[in-house]
Amino acid sequence: MSRQPLAGWGRTSPSTADVRAVGSTDDVARQVAGHVADRVPGAGRGVLARGLGRSYGDAAQNGGGVVLDMTGLAEVHAVDPGTRLVDVDAGVSLERLIDVLLPRGLWVPVLPGTRQVTVGGAIAADVHGKNHHVHGSFGDHVTSMELVLADGSVRTLRRGTTDPEEAALRRATVGGMGLTGVVTRATIECRRVATSSMVVDTERAGDLDELLAVLATDEDRYPYSVAWFDAVATGGAAGRAVITRGRHAERDELPAASRARPLAYTPGVRAAVPDAVPPGVLNRATARAFNALYYRAAPRRRRTEVQDLTTFFHPLDAITSWNRLYGPRGMVQYQLVVPLGAEDVVRRVVADVAASGHVSCLNVLKRFGPGNDSPLSFPTEGWTLAVDLPVRAGLGHLLRGLDEQVLDAGGRLYLAKDSRADSATLRRMYPRLDEFRATRRRVDPDGVFVSDLARRLEL
Ligand SMILES: Cc1cc2nc3c(=O)[nH]c(=O)nc-3n(C[C@H](O)[C@H](O)[C@H](O)COP(=O)(O)OP(=O)(O)OC[C@H]3O[C@@H](n4cnc5c(N)ncnc54)[C@H](O)[C@@H]3O)c2cc1C
Repeated sequence: MSRQPLAGWGRTSPSTADVRAVGSTDDVARQVAGHVADRVPGAGRGVLARGLGRSYGDAAQNGGGVVLDMTGLAEVHAVDPGTRLVDVDAGVSLERLIDVLLPRGLWVPVLPGTRQVTVGGAIAADVHGKNHHVHGSFGDHVTSMELVLADGSVRTLRRGTTDPEEAALRRATVGGMGLTGVVTRATIECRRVATSSMVVDTERAGDLDELLAVLATDEDRYPYSVAWFDAVATGGAAGRAVITRGRHAERDELPAASRARPLAYTPGVRAAVPDAVPPGVLNRATARAFNALYYRAAPRRRRTEVQDLTTFFHPLDAITSWNRLYGPRGMVQYQLVVPLGAEDVVRRVVADVAASGHVSCLNVLKRFGPGNDSPLSFPTEGWTLAVDLPVRAGLGHLLRGLDEQVLDAGGRLYLAKDSRADSATLRRMYPRLDEFRATRRRVDPDGVFVSDLARRLEL
């Protein structure tokens, strides 16, 4: 056990917890049950699982309480290429999973924008990737999982179960941000791939209207699709974008030299950003230059380019600790989804951010497919937009204004990215919050599982 300050990827609101490493389901059960036994009623600060800390805000923090470091619970138990099922501990990272699966011609069914996340974190946030419009979110592919409950008992939660209590607990755990229990092990249904390469179409859109039109038409031809947009340009260039869409390559599409080892994969060398980046490195001038350069450097239109996995899925993973670039005050990633038909809200959000003087370089727009039945799962059918904004004066005011527009359109924010919304806002964004709360109360009546995020949002 050690007292450690913990922060999210955005580094905005660290808090100190007793961090305990766990190496088995029994370990987790002992820690949870022991915590309950020791607890002075009303005085405890509870327990929370933490993966690789890639949520941006305070979701994986439990100030004054216990945090279970799940990264030591990291065995891959079995991979069955026939059924495409992989049985893994919850602390296994998606990076490791790719290493294990690819040589067997299998692929992680949903990958977020970094592979530095654990299976437990991927379930708890019900993460989405570039393929949401065709393959849904991570929880959809989890055929069963093991969950340690507040009394230290272990439950198995199966996809498609007919037991209504098990089904409700599974729904609440997928996207439940660690608040129903600790996931210790999961079976995931993977996809089959013939190569480790992607076939990618890239094109530029001159403005936001063109971008929305492109993403609204051709999407179903591509299993993977995403757009980066310029969040600083105003006027006619507002929302200009680079759209990348692709699919896994077949063996005969590879360059001849690569066909002998179609599944070969080298994740690439990592550079690191030093810890002492001064505030203000990302300012209006540098962000404007970056956005313009990124747009102009992209091909106007390029078809069927063969790309490696990191280039297509995880270019940022080539640089460790890139979040330090935002300086000591950190950054907020603001990610929203609004329904199809609310394109005007997307236009206004892009215009408001560009006009605000706040700057963002990692700006993403994507069309989601339909969501699933988990009450706190973020994706719903519509437009999702994300911007990374360094913290500085006036940011709260800008984001509160954006919240109102998102709310009016019937949209919501992503809990794995959020660090500043309040409970009233959350209630309006997640209409099935009471269903989540009822399930949580049933399995954890004393509130053993808790986080800084749960306290802030009164989950
Ligand atoms: C560069 C970058 C890009 C990203 N891109 C995307 C993206 O494209 N799509 C997307 O959906 N997300 C994205 N994310 C967010 C990230 O995928 C999620 O926050 C994910 O939950 C992080 O996993 P983690 O293992 O780091 O979990 P943590 O951040 O450590 O924890 C996140 C939540 O999961 C809970 N949790 C962790 N492990 C367990 C467990 N074993 N049992 C129960 N609860 C657990 C924690 O309590 C916490 O509430 C991105 C993050 C970064 C930094």
